[in-house]
Amino acid sequence: MFEFSERARRYQEDLLAFMDEHVYPAESIYHAQMTESGDPHFHPPIIEELKTEARKRGLWNLFHPHSEWGPGLTNLEYAPLAEIMGRSAHLAPEATNCNAPDTGNMEVLTLFGTPEHKQDWLQPLLDGEIASAFAMTEPAVASSDATNIELRMQPDGDEYILNGRKWWTSNALHKNCKVLIVMGKTDPDAPVHRQQSMMVVPIDTPGVTVLRNLAVFGYQDREGHAEVVFENVRVPRTALLAGEGDGFMIGQARLGPGRIHHCMRAIGMAERALDLMIDRAQARTTFGAPVADRANIQDWIAESRIEIEMARLLTLKAAHLMDTVGNRNARVEIAAIKVAAPQVALKVVDRAIQVHGGGGVSDDFPLASMYAHLRTLRLADGPDEVHKRTIAQMELRRRDPAWGKRP
Ligand SMILES: Cc1cc2nc3c(=O)[nH]c(=O)nc-3n(C[C@H](O)[C@H](O)[C@H](O)COP(=O)(O)OP(=O)(O)OC[C@H]3O[C@@H](n4cnc5c(N)ncnc54)[C@H](O)[C@@H]3O)c2cc1C
Repeated sequence: MFEFSERARRYQEDLLAFMDEHVYPAESIYHAQMTESGDPHFHPPIIEELKTEARKRGLWNLFHPHSEWGPGLTNLEYAPLAEIMGRSAHLAPEATNCNAPDTGNMEVLTLFGTPEHKQDWLQPLLDGEIASAFAMTEPAVASSDATNIELRMQPDGDEYILNGRKWWTSNALHKNCKVLIVMGKTDPDAPVHRQQSMMVVPIDTPGVTVLRNLAVFGYQDREGHAEVVFENVRVPRTALLAGEGDGFMIGQARLGPGRIHHCMRAIGMAERALDLMIDRAQARTTFGAPVADRANIQDWIAESRIEIEMARLLTLKAAHLMDTVGNRNARVEIAAIKVAAPQVALKVVDRAIQVHGGGGVSDDFPLASMYAHLRTLRLADGPDEVHKRTIAQMELRRRDPAWGKRP
């Protein structure tokens, strides 16, 4: 079932070579450039050098399912590539123009953008010239239920007036961020899933203020997770994506592929953490024997391998179903992997931290930062509990089709 196509195998080989020859050697340069700048949101030159090299090698926009814009790989073909990128998550996804949230935004603009949106925003995004952010979550409401979103998009003649507050708008502090895709309410009186719309809002539109960055366990992520205020922001009617009331539908279309990409990268992180765990356990000796000789350490190594393989197989199954029966019919598998992959990766990273002793929680190894990032994946793009709700509802209805539908 999961025999990779020849072109998928070729891309895997090419990407692995790019990682070995350019990305891993660039990691120390990246950290040196970031430290030297003293600015957590600095755009280090090494990123642009890697982008140039990746593009030269044809490793560009690999995520994009439409062949007009990239190689047109299936989800199953892209899965192992995203996993490889996840091994160096600060560098490889951006180097290949496959980083979130730009990938999801590019897909939305491809599917729902007007010719003008495509020219002004999609093309520069596809060329890696600009970055973008997705603003749905709000501090004032429980945003895991998107029907709660309150930012007002008031129609006014040929324009809309936007008022509201967002937070966790990832990428809004990226030095190249030029545009936001914003979800808000155009019609509070419409049926509950038709009240929301999405609009394309240039970040420099008067009334848009990026207030501050939100730290993640104390880390100031380079791309930033911003709190953004919208005060009487006027945008033309043409800012609308698809139609009025289509926000919920677009959100669903956007999150399916985005979720599975996160999971693939999480598995790549777990693989790297397992490598680090093994190397360290073999290199260090306590009480007269290598740490790797201890039964409990071998148990952690074995458990990690088993769990990674299980998570990978479930991810590939979800990717295969997305390709064959569509994202909507694969929603239970997408929900399952969104819960499973970050949890597995967190367990593996936690064990690797333990094997590294004090070094594990320092910045001398990538493990602490990996842990912080992976922990956020249990919340971002929907908390675990919301995905489990989807799975449980399907299971309950499998036994009783009327479950939850009775008055
Ligand atoms: C690092 C990071 C990056 C992010 N990037 C973005 C971004 O780019 N754009 C964006 O719009 N948002 C982004 N988010 C926000 C993220 O998507 C939300 O935090 C998430 O959807 C949850 O919404 P909330 O924080 O309002 O939690 P709430 O909706 O208040 O939920 C709180 C908790 O309630 C529990 N819960 C909720 N529903 C149920 C249920 N049905 N059953 C049981 N328990 C339940 C869950 O444990 C949940 O964690 C990001 C978040 C993080 C941490």
